[in-house]
Amino acid sequence: MSPTRVLVLNSGSSSVKYQLLDMRGGDRLAVGLVERIGEETSRLKHTPEGGESREWSGAVPDHESALKAVAAELAKDGLGLDSPELAAIGHRVVHGGRRFTEPTVIDDAVLAEIERLIPVAPLHNPANLTGIRTARDLRPDLPQVAVFDTAFHTTMPESAARYAIDVETADAHRIRRYGFHGTSHAYVSRETARLLGRAPEDVNVIVLHLGNGASASAVRGGRCVDTSMGLTPLEGLVMGTRSGDLDPAVIFHLMRVGGMSADEIDTLLNKRSGLIGLCGDNDMREIRRRVDAGDERARLAFDIYIHRLKKYIGAYYAVLGRVDAVVFTAGVGENAAAVREAAVAGLEGLGLAVDGELNAGRGDGARLVSPPDARVAVAVVPTDEEMEIATQTYALVKESGNPA
Ligand code: ADP
Repeated sequence: MSPTRVLVLNSGSSSVKYQLLDMRGGDRLAVGLVERIGEETSRLKHTPEGGESREWSGAVPDHESALKAVAAELAKDGLGLDSPELAAIGHRVVHGGRRFTEPTVIDDAVLAEIERLIPVAPLHNPANLTGIRTARDLRPDLPQVAVFDTAFHTTMPESAARYAIDVETADAHRIRRYGFHGTSHAYVSRETARLLGRAPEDVNVIVLHLGNGASASAVRGGRCVDTSMGLTPLEGLVMGTRSGDLDPAVIFHLMRVGGMSADEIDTLLNKRSGLIGLCGDNDMREIRRRVDAGDERARLAFDIYIHRLKKYIGAYYAVLGRVDAVVFTAGVGENAAAVREAAVAGLEGLGLAVDGELNAGRGDGARLVSPPDARVAVAVVPTDEEMEIATQTYALVKESGNPA
């Protein structure tokens, strides 16, 4: 029988997250992560399906050691990387530029192209590449597939993808809006169609992926036509630590008047802005607790977050013309009823509303939170990027007749 398991690897600069999935029934055989790679106090947490989590702490100097540690943990559960059941390894790759519009089987040419994109993704692509190279060394015979965060957004028309700057300068430096979180937007928009009992080709959806990073997208008939992140994940919504949209002249002002360097401003806008910059907290649970206790700064941070979100809902409503559903996903979107309620408050004229009880209720899977007679559905759809990466990886290796 052909192998049916896929190992999904998400290699960040100092962490590796992984899941081993069996594509026969969609079982998660193991999930885990290694964090603080390169420090003395690295940590590995591994949870086999239906079993107790195992944690381990010590020095993991680099990604190679991290992957070897992951392989050793998997082996303890009889799920080692040498298993004939393993069909492929699927890698999350943040930036695929314009070239990678689909999941892609990795060879030397693909690696070189991902490397060529480092200037537009300096924080992410190097770590993704290290993960891929290490995994290839461990199992050179196994198909390895890259699934790109940008791929879903490559269908955006030029009118949405281009910044209104000099075309030659933009092209010389590959400056355009690429968008991110694409794997999540693809999965969630498709699951929303399923929740509505309709084909993805027939529905228009606004997806609000609200995690620590946050992005919105406008999806027409299953294809992305606009998204809020741009050249980098800094543009768009207010996020946990990122500013989202701002007048680019703020940067010149900080340089000329504030005496800050480009690197300092980069850090300010990516790490010390957004919710944390506004009120000192980036966890929405803590912010809501403070708001409920009457904290003014937390209230202002929350209001700015919601105001931006509302502007994007309105903008994407106009981009799509007809909207069938507005869907919330990721840590904040799935859990923060107050954010969902505030984001659509006052939008009854657009056919948008939440039902207080449904919205406040808890539920594991995809669910509607709008009143039953609503013109536009408002939904919560838990995202599952690992499942989507595994699904795309498995489909590709099956299609190319490649499973070992
Ligand atoms: P990322 O993948 O971008 O790191 P997640 O999608 O896991 O982020 O979302 C993390 C965020 O979700 C946290 O920072 C927190 O603000 C928010 N969050 C998680 N659980 C809750 C909850 N129960 N209520 C409100 N917000 C929550």
